[in-house]
Amino acid sequence: MSQNTKYIFVTGGVTSSLGKGIISASLAKLLQARGYTVTIQKLDPYINVDPGTLNPYEHGECYVTEDGAETDLDLGHYERFLNVKTSQANNVTTGRIYQSVIEKERRGEYLGKTVQVIPHITDEIKNRIKLLGKTGQYQFIITEIGGTVGDIESLPYIEAVRQLKWELGNDCTVIHLTLLPYLSTSGELKTKPTQHSVKLLLEYGVQPDILVCRAEHAINSDIRRKIALFCNVEVDAVIEALDASTIYEVPVFMEKEELDVITLKKLGITVEGVPQLEKWKEFLFKFHNPKQEVNIGLIGKYVELKDSYKSIAESFIHAGAVNDCKVKLHWIHSESLTDENVKEKLKGLKGILVAPGFGNRGIEGKIEAIKFARENNVPFFGICLGMQCAVIEFARNVLGLKDAHSREMNPATSNPVIDLLEAQKNISHMGGTMRLGAYPCRLEENTLAHKIYNSNETTERHRHRYEFNNEYLPKFREAGMKLSGINPDAGLVEIIELNDHPFFIGVQFHPEYKSTVEKPHPLFVAFVKAAIDKK
Ligand code: GLN
Repeated sequence: MSQNTKYIFVTGGVTSSLGKGIISASLAKLLQARGYTVTIQKLDPYINVDPGTLNPYEHGECYVTEDGAETDLDLGHYERFLNVKTSQANNVTTGRIYQSVIEKERRGEYLGKTVQVIPHITDEIKNRIKLLGKTGQYQFIITEIGGTVGDIESLPYIEAVRQLKWELGNDCTVIHLTLLPYLSTSGELKTKPTQHSVKLLLEYGVQPDILVCRAEHAINSDIRRKIALFCNVEVDAVIEALDASTIYEVPVFMEKEELDVITLKKLGITVEGVPQLEKWKEFLFKFHNPKQEVNIGLIGKYVELKDSYKSIAESFIHAGAVNDCKVKLHWIHSESLTDENVKEKLKGLKGILVAPGFGNRGIEGKIEAIKFARENNVPFFGICLGMQCAVIEFARNVLGLKDAHSREMNPATSNPVIDLLEAQKNISHMGGTMRLGAYPCRLEENTLAHKIYNSNETTERHRHRYEFNNEYLPKFREAGMKLSGINPDAGLVEIIELNDHPFFIGVQFHPEYKSTVEKPHPLFVAFVKAAIDKK
């Protein structure tokens, strides 16, 4: 192929939630499986500088990259599909665009010009898109434009796409994802919303090259021809995207529909061979043919919106497949758990995961769940706040420090077993100021963690302000808690575990951000195995 980086834009029409992220990740997977280097970028039209300050109820989980960027959860899909790390450059919001334009204006960089949406905001957007191309690491940059065509806030992005299409010519193609609603009364898929959505794009000066059409039923050749005719695309460029039983099926659907082939053609690349998806299909086979099922409870306070724990749920899918097992997750609201009902509510679970989170709501329920898991030998896995709660539970019920707490929940506690680091004490801005991104973790010998990782050191991603309070270290050690993972530079406790328990592990970091189809996370794999082994 030519030297030039190729740019693929993915826009969405008709409605939100059609799965642009999954389509983008699936196309990226197919290109990668043909031997190309690919990365994906998400442009989000909201004004928050990043999603770090958003409540999970707004847009689901906040995904954290190695370099400590707090990003949209779609980046998690990109990493899980491609097994390639993303970074801050892979997620840009309107807030960030405006922030940098305004900073430039304040520095006088616009030389007295009136600063405007076109060209200044659109130039900034274009620069962010081309930034990844300039690294020279990738042959393809797939850019997913958040929102739906027609939204006021995504207009500057569509305008940037229009300009880039003009500038880049053959090095650029636009894929538009739409919906063909099915009318059960007439038994028909309807194309009108798609036609209208393409017309809207045309009004903005963008002719999509490929249409990916979500549909509940197969799209016959008549409909394909009709869409092609009304939307100025080739019949081959009308791609059917049926509902899939798992997101991991979508690359295979797209392979059948030859989305990769038509994309390469549109970019002027000669198509040779087929994507090498053997390993991917092996994983799918294992996913579809589990030898057993295991029930695991996920205790959290955002359980009404499952996207809040996206990466955890996906990690269980990866870890389940490796173990030839289907993990059946039971989403349990921590606020619903009390001393009286915990036994009943957690009955029959073979493993209990206590989720990350912020603030006091639901804390006591999490602590009850942990006490139950500890006392009844149920495999336990605590992540971030989940680990902090395990420390609090142990302090209260084993060390006898009745008022032990995290200073986050009770600033006045006389036993702050979880506390703020000195460096966090004077922070006033909330955005981007937590302990974020990858940090090394030394794994102590003769511990379960060491055995699971089979290594003396690892790195894991963080997103928290509070830490295990090392003043209490000796007391915890004496009472039988092992501090099995330590940050080698700061001495911070990163992993805790209990000896006289089949599996009791808490981690201050977020292993779920690093689990991919190709490399399921060892802690999840071991936790699922422990759940399977539980009598
Ligand atoms: N709220 C806790 C802290 O800030 C835990 C954060 C988390 O679970 N990600 O330390």
